[in-house]
Amino acid sequence: MERESDSVVSQWINSRNYLETAGIVLTAEEQAWFSADTHSGPPFRVTRYYASLIREADPADPIRLQSIPSILEEQLNPHELEDPLGEADHSPVPRLIRRYPARALFITTGSCAVYCRHCFRRSIAGAAAPPTDAEILAAAEYIGKHPEITELLLSGGDPLMLSDERLEGIIRSFREQRPDLVLRICTRVPVVQPARVTPSVLAILAACRNPALYVVTQFNHPAEVTEESRTAVKALVDCGIPVLNQTVLLRGVNDSADCLQQLFESLVAVRAIPYYLFQLDLAPGTAHFRVSLERTREIYRELQKRLSRLALPDLSVDLPGGEGKVVLADSGIVSRKGSRYLLRNQEGYSCHYTDPGESDRV
Ligand SMILES: *Cc1c(COP(=O)(O)O)cnc(C)c1O
Ligand code: SF4
Repeated sequence: MERESDSVVSQWINSRNYLETAGIVLTAEEQAWFSADTHSGPPFRVTRYYASLIREADPADPIRLQSIPSILEEQLNPHELEDPLGEADHSPVPRLIRRYPARALFITTGSCAVYCRHCFRRSIAGAAAPPTDAEILAAAEYIGKHPEITELLLSGGDPLMLSDERLEGIIRSFREQRPDLVLRICTRVPVVQPARVTPSVLAILAACRNPALYVVTQFNHPAEVTEESRTAVKALVDCGIPVLNQTVLLRGVNDSADCLQQLFESLVAVRAIPYYLFQLDLAPGTAHFRVSLERTREIYRELQKRLSRLALPDLSVDLPGGEGKVVLADSGIVSRKGSRYLLRNQEGYSCHYTDPGESDRV
């Protein structure tokens, strides 16, 4: 059975020769990665489409930094963790991760159209194969026996790397056990290989959109919001699939309020709703992408002032060890004394507010 989508496989680049033929001049750090005998991070893989967005002569190009490996990935830091989210400890059956009572995540495949150099699922990306029928059935039966799980995330790797048949088969297996299950498909394909959002993929997703199916993308930079990726996102929304976006904050790529403002506004303009802005997980070899939490919060405070609520994602940090996500936005409560609160708005204006409490119902 065909397991990976041919339409993506034919578009892969995994040799430095292609980059050089395309006129991309590799930096010393990039050359050093390609010359090294072994690598601790994900393999090199980029699509022709995504590589075509790179400005060849610019060593700081944001698409390049996310997709062309650098020897900096081999610098490992003591606080970095192989499994930064502690997912292996929260797996009741193979490939299923349950960190929350009401939602679970299924690892569909380790394959991705582009291996992001900042990937936090390093132990999976480039490694895990598509699931066997027995693994799918075991996970679906587990979900069937746990009606308190109301939402299932299909993640990876990238679920849209699977063949159409496989993708449809997985969705159907879960929905057979639980027709009421809300599905969330987490994929970078609309960003890095928008042509994979084919009429056939749209038809499969549209047929499964009841009761609800969401797609969550990962746009990290305005340069990724192209004619092609816009078309892919709009096609999803047009067939009744809401699109949410998660952005990873990356030093040198998108770590400024100007850049993120432009990104989030352009996403809202194509009906993709900014959902989370993530502090980078503590995955090994990603230190060169890390922004200090202090600067992250500064950037976020600036975004709070500038953006409409629709365009502003929640700022979130994943706790190491698998204890889940923490939303970091300032609460606006400066202090409280009984029912008397001191509240402060985004412009820094503060004001007392007395909570009248709840009156008895009549
Ligand atoms: C992030 C995540 C979820 C979903 O969390 P939300 O806050 O609802 O987006 C569910 N399960 C796992 C294992 C996750 O990492
Ligand atoms: S698409 Fe996701 S899983 Fe794949 S390399 Fe990028 S961050 Fe990692």
